[in-house]
Parts: sequence; structure tokens; C-alpha cells
Amino acid sequence: MSIRKILIANRGEIALRIIRTCKSMNIRTVAIYSDVDADAPHTRAADESYHIGRAPATESYLHKEKIIAAARETGADAIHPGYGFVSENADFVKLVEDAGILFVGPASKAIRLLGDKTSARRLARSLKIPMVPGVVDPVHTLESLREVANEIGYPVLLKASAGGGGKGMRVVQSDQELASAFRSARSEAKSSFGDDRVYVEKYLADPRHIEVQVLADTAGNVIHLGERECSIQRRHQKILEESPSLLLSTKLRDEITSCAVRLAREGGYTNAGTVEFLLDREKNFYFMEMNTRLQVEHPVTEMRTGIDLVREQIRIADGEPLSYRQSEIMFTGHAIECRIYAEDSSNNFFPSTGVIHALHPPSGAWIREDRGVVEGGKVTAYYDPMISKLIAHGSDRDEAIDRLTEALSRYELFGVKNNIDLCLWILTHPKYRANQVDTNFIQNHFSLQDLERVPPQLFEAAAVAAALTESAAINASGPIRPAPGSRWRTMRQDHLR
Ligand code: ADP
Repeated sequence: MSIRKILIANRGEIALRIIRTCKSMNIRTVAIYSDVDADAPHTRAADESYHIGRAPATESYLHKEKIIAAARETGADAIHPGYGFVSENADFVKLVEDAGILFVGPASKAIRLLGDKTSARRLARSLKIPMVPGVVDPVHTLESLREVANEIGYPVLLKASAGGGGKGMRVVQSDQELASAFRSARSEAKSSFGDDRVYVEKYLADPRHIEVQVLADTAGNVIHLGERECSIQRRHQKILEESPSLLLSTKLRDEITSCAVRLAREGGYTNAGTVEFLLDREKNFYFMEMNTRLQVEHPVTEMRTGIDLVREQIRIADGEPLSYRQSEIMFTGHAIECRIYAEDSSNNFFPSTGVIHALHPPSGAWIREDRGVVEGGKVTAYYDPMISKLIAHGSDRDEAIDRLTEALSRYELFGVKNNIDLCLWILTHPKYRANQVDTNFIQNHFSLQDLERVPPQLFEAAAVAAALTESAAINASGPIRPAPGSRWRTMRQDHLR
């Protein structure tokens, strides 16, 4: 192994996750941090830390030149980008390559080809991989958009070519809505990505989101590590992911995973990547996009396969062959992850900020938690409000659901509004248990009245939490914790019975 020191161009849970694997591989780590992260867990956990700039991401975690200067100054051999920020920015990766530093991810050329929705879709079309009816190339005028929309039939979906995070996405129900949706999709795409190209495709009714984890080395070996189902979303963003997807027959799984492997191979892809598909009600599958980086939900794949994806990424970046052949990948049981966000489920999932007054996460034999914040830490408006990922493994889906529910109900988090109750509502919903889900599950089933009906204990718990938060804000004398055996804990446990 020639890599001795890695700079992690990220923050939060994923920076900590990467640091953990680096330590296990005896690789030194360099954290970068912004003004507000001087004391952050990732800054403290790394062997070295480097102040990168002011709090806004454009001046810190997104600042390409500063990150490369930091790598040079600290003598890092490689940069791991995590997810988000510069992870899928081909211009950044080109700068890294030109600086003679290894990038723990694909080559800039592969990102340009597969990370861009238009060129990835062109490649997929040439490989005869099924795609949602629509256009592959961006549409530039309202007239041409109208023509395509009429041809494929409403509802249609406008999507940003450079898209991500649901930005620039607009569902259009009828011709009358088209002009204003086109305008707003383009302007949102421009402001989010500096690229206003937009394309259009059929809006599928209540689809399911299935994605395939691939690994590819520089010698041309490409394997997959199975699928993840990520149909539980709010605002087109995932909050609960699992593997395997019980929707897939062995034959369908083989078809989808082989399309993913083919796309990666033909695109000259290296490193870890995820190929995303949608499934319609008839279980026809359609290629959606490729994410050319480590995915937030990668732990469910790690729990099922026992493979450390970050370790594989580092080995691949270092020119090593894959540690496994396809036939050596063993899948065990079922894993489910829920993302705990600082957000208000009762107010359109609006992000919540503030100091985390008390934080007592659960632990247990089949539980993994990847978290980027600590008690006393602050959730700011500068970055993604994800607090933690809680993952459970079970011998089957039912057991994984039970273990995650039990663990989540012991999760104590005060100070910021959070979606723990929403996650519990999902996990205890009969339709979720019966695997009758789709990407509109929350939109179609979640309402405040529903929350009021389903376990009332959670509401009481929320009220107690709010009171604790308030008193902590007034006292501000340090973290407070619910006493062992307190009413709050008892209520949470009651709910499980
Ligand atoms: P982004 O890159 O902005 O995250 P994606 O293309 O990955 O966008 O899609 C995110 C989510 O949007 C999907 O998981 C799905 O819920 C929804 N979506 C995307 N395309 C379609 C479509 N054609 N029909 C219905 N829903 C879609």
C-alpha cells in the first residue's frame, strides 16, 4: 500500500466513518474544518486538522483550490471526498489528478461520463438499458418541451441534467403548468448547480427506488454488492433504506444488477459507485442515474456483506485489485438504515438548528450507528442537518425492523427538532411491515392526524422532550439527561409492547 496519509474533504458522520477505516489500515488522516467546525468531532478525530475557511461551504468544503492546497501542505497522498460537497465534481477531481494526488473515487473522465445525467443516459441507451420514457438530451425551448411532454403524456417530470438532491425537479400535471415549471426548474438548476440544462421524462406513478452497489478496480474487474431499496423518501429524498429488496425475484435481481455492472464496465468506471433505478407497478425497471461516489446508505450493504466499502475504495485508488470475486460475495440477512435528521416533520420537514442538549444513542449487538455530532454540539444552518444513521441487522426483514424499532425507541436526542418519531411511525406502519411501499409512501400516508392516532406515547414523549429542551435553554448550564427509569423512557418502552 503506497497511501500513507489521506485528507478527508468532508465533515460530519462520513468524515468520521472514513477516519475509522483509515485508522484500521494504519493510514494517517487529515481533517479539514471551517470556522464553525473548529471543535467538531471529525476535526478532533483526525491525526491532523487543517483550517480551510469560513463557515459557508463555498468558502470551505466546496472550495476546490483550498482543499488541494491543504492536501499539498499536509503532505497527503490522497483525498477522500465522502459524499456531497466536491465528491462528484469532475473539475475538482481533474485538479486533484493534475496535482499528482490520488483521488479516492473514479477518474475525472468517468465522472464526466457517468456522473452527468445526460451523458450517463446516452450511454445507458446505447447499452439498451431500459429508461423511463422521455428525452435523453436537455430541452432548450418551451416549444420542444411541450412537444415531448405531449408525446409521452402527462404527468411528466422535469429534471436538472446536473441534478442532485431533488433540486431542479418539477412534476408537471398538465400543459397549463408547463411554462412556469420549466422556468422555475431552470432557475433552480442554475442557482444550485450553475447549469440550467433540464430534461423531461414520464412521471411514474408511485414507483419504487432500487439501486445497485458496484465496485470496480483499475484492472477492469467490476462486481456488484447487491441492491438497496430506498423507496421511503420525503421530498424525493431518502430517509430509510434497506437491503435486500424483497420486491425482487432472483431473475429480476440478476437483470438489474447485471445492467448496473455493464454500465460501470462500459463507462470505464473505477471505485465504488451506485446505479439507481426506478421500478413501476408492473416491476419494469428503468435506469435513473449513477452516483459516482460512496452513498449515504452504504452501511446496509456493509452489514449484509461484511465488506468495508471505504477500505475497498482506498485499495482501488491505490491500484490494488478488488479483494473479492463476484462469486465470493456472501449476503447475510437483512439490514435497514434510518437517517435521523434535525428537522420538523410537522412543518414540511423544515431543517431545525440549535444545540444538542442531550444525546444518548442506543447500542446493541445488531445495531450500528454512524454519527457526526456529540452532546453539546451545534446543528447549524450551514450544512446538511443529518445527525445520525442508525442501522440494524436481522436474519430477515421482520427481525431487522424489530431491532431497529427497539433501538430507535431508546434513542434520546434533545435540543433540536428531529424525525425520530417519524421513523418510528414508518417502522410501525402496517403497510411498511407488509412491504407495501413506494416513493410517495410518506406523502400519501403521513399526516399529523395519523401521528396523533398512531402511538400516542410518542406524542407525550415529544412533549416531554420539548419541555426538557426549554428548561435546558433556560438553564443553559450544560447537558441534561432524563433520569434512568424516567417517565420519558418508560413511555418509549410502553410503545413497544
Ligand atoms: P436527484 O439526483 O435530484 O436526487 P434522482 O434522479 O436521483 O434525483 O431522483 C430522486 C427521486 O425522485 C427518486 O428516488 C424518485 O423518488 C423520484 N423520481 C425521479 N424520477 C422519477 C420519475 N420519472 N417518476 C417518478 N418519480 C421519480
